[in-house]
Amino acid sequence: MNDLRDLYQEIILDHNKNPRNFKKLDDADRAAEGYNPLCGDHYWFYVKLDGEKIVDVGFHGAGCAISKSSASVMTSMAKGHTKDEFESVFQLFRSMITGESKFDEETLGKLAAFQGVCEHPSRVKCAILPWHTLHGALAGEAKATTE
Ligand code: ZN
Repeated sequence: MNDLRDLYQEIILDHNKNPRNFKKLDDADRAAEGYNPLCGDHYWFYVKLDGEKIVDVGFHGAGCAISKSSASVMTSMAKGHTKDEFESVFQLFRSMITGESKFDEETLGKLAAFQGVCEHPSRVKCAILPWHTLHGALAGEAKATTE
């Protein structure tokens, strides 16, 4: 279990230090701003769509290690998938990180790295903010907050 925790810690640190898709998309079809007032996490997300498919996604802004690494892992996962596929992973991740259901590492892959976050309720909003914001962008909403 300790080895696994170390690995999870490493994934979060790596994605915080070298966030994937950390860029503004000038030709984005949708964009949304996300803000978590409790922590100060503040990001903008951009999505390029081809029909139902998410062909590119990027984000920029600033926040804590949990929010930034969550945004990085999420954008890596979302790219190449349909909006519906994104929504079902979002529901799954949300129910696990809020403690509603058990973490399923096989289904979540790298997202399982965030399972330690559910032991710290104040950080759950940090981890979920990027998801709320991209979800909002796909639904045509320009702003999302964790409140
Ligand atoms: Zn935060």
